[in-house]
Amino acid sequence: MSNPFQRCSICSAPPEVLAAVNEALRKREKFRDLAERTGFSRASLHRHSKRCVPRDTLAQYKARTAVIPSGRTIVAWPARPDQPAHYTLLFSEYVLHESDLLDSDTIFRVSYAPDFSVEVAAARRTRFSDKLLDEALAENEARTPQTDS
Ligand SMILES: [Zn+2]
Repeated sequence: MSNPFQRCSICSAPPEVLAAVNEALRKREKFRDLAERTGFSRASLHRHSKRCVPRDTLAQYKARTAVIPSGRTIVAWPARPDQPAHYTLLFSEYVLHESDLLDSDTIFRVSYAPDFSVEVAAARRTRFSDKLLDEALAENEARTPQTDS
């Protein structure tokens, strides 16, 4: 009997390899051909397809359809700082589609702050911020090894 805690060699492979194997399994490629193509044993491919793939599929489904009474926490990440309209919805590590969103979900939309402006910072200076800045610079100097002698 195999050790149930033994890590699956396919699940332990780099993510792009795992994704390619799972895609081939979804397309019902024969174990023999897939073993030939990937170097994984037929036994490993069989075990992975029976144990890991259903588990992952179910986890994806659960994440997409989970109804949590207090609602799910979804993070909307902009695809690029200059394209705030395009974003990726993440619940835990799962990517959701807009159609997966529920009324009970809470969505945190990430946006990037404008670039730091020296002029704005200078206009907002106070004795307190100057003191913090001096402390930060002193700490920075203490941490940075002196290379010149
Ligand atoms: Zn696996």
